[in-house]
Amino acid sequence: MRNQDFPCLFVNLSVIRDNTRTLIALCRQHGVEPVGVNKLSCEAANVARAMIDAGISTIADSRIQNLKKIADLPVDKLLLRLPQISLAHDIVAYADISLNSEEHTLQALSAAAIAQNKTHRVILMHDLGDLREGCVDPLETRRLARLVHKELPGLTLEGLGANLACYGGVEPTTENQQALVDLAHQIEDELGIALRTISGASSAALFLLINGGLPTGVNQLRLGASLIMGFGLNDEPIPDTRQDAIKLGVEIIELKDKPSVPQHSTALDAMGRKPVFEDLGVHHRALAALGEQDVSFSQLRPFDPGVKVLGASSDHLILDVTHAASGYQVGDIVYFSLGYSGVLQCMTSEYVGKQYSYF
Ligand SMILES: *Cc1c(COP(=O)(O)O)cnc(C)c1O
Repeated sequence: MRNQDFPCLFVNLSVIRDNTRTLIALCRQHGVEPVGVNKLSCEAANVARAMIDAGISTIADSRIQNLKKIADLPVDKLLLRLPQISLAHDIVAYADISLNSEEHTLQALSAAAIAQNKTHRVILMHDLGDLREGCVDPLETRRLARLVHKELPGLTLEGLGANLACYGGVEPTTENQQALVDLAHQIEDELGIALRTISGASSAALFLLINGGLPTGVNQLRLGASLIMGFGLNDEPIPDTRQDAIKLGVEIIELKDKPSVPQHSTALDAMGRKPVFEDLGVHHRALAALGEQDVSFSQLRPFDPGVKVLGASSDHLILDVTHAASGYQVGDIVYFSLGYSGVLQCMTSEYVGKQYSYF
């Protein structure tokens, strides 16, 4: 892909490296070693490298295909999404550590590890109430811990983890994080071992850490959105980080004065929505080469405060540029920042170019 292809996602690796440095320093003040979560950038080894430059020693991803692409980077690789039994061989080959909650999966990983003459490290996931992955019953987590430690060769029990604020909107709190630490201590006492890792939560736990509420014992956070986009819980900006690592550029393909309300509007729009219009008179409109096939238009925040996103069909973005600061011409580029899911959608659209550089 040529550099000047649009739409294009511009990723500023300097911002990711600087955010990572800042958050590593912050975490270490609180006895926490962060893992760099790279799943937002899909196959971008360069994002992983920016994190590693800043001092990250474990890179995590949800998909084993992405870890395969960074196999040669000299850090530990952690698989975030619970392993698929069908991929047990690759998971042991390309991930040093995985998050687990299922006995059958652990058996498959154990067999794959023996076959490859490797040791695979297991973090057991305990569900603290967000109701995505992990055992809800502490007795079940303890049973799996015994199983991994005593009965499954090829596996070692690395530690205990939990995920929050992903499905159920449950915030990391001192109480739920302490419950994880307590459970880890019970497992340590029962098995007579020391667990290396208590992996508390994601970027959602950073405000708790900043406020001094993360209990002693939690020694790992898995950070993605915060390192890349400077976001914590509820997409709130984290102090001393930057939110401008990623911007989207789209090209104007038409500029016309048009009425703001269609005549005889009775049909649904291209996405099956009932369109609603505000009568603002005739306005100056730009059509840009981007659509719902690439990213949901509600994710787009124009840098120019005079640009307003009116809507989109599958391949066309419609903008009101009546009050735009710059006098746009056809062929000009309009820039947007995006929310987390907007970046995710653009990353997986093959029609959106990606340009990574240190600006
Ligand atoms: C995505 C993910 C993270 C990172 O979440 P961020 O909000 O991007 O920091 C951490 N843990 C698990 C299990 C994840 O799937």
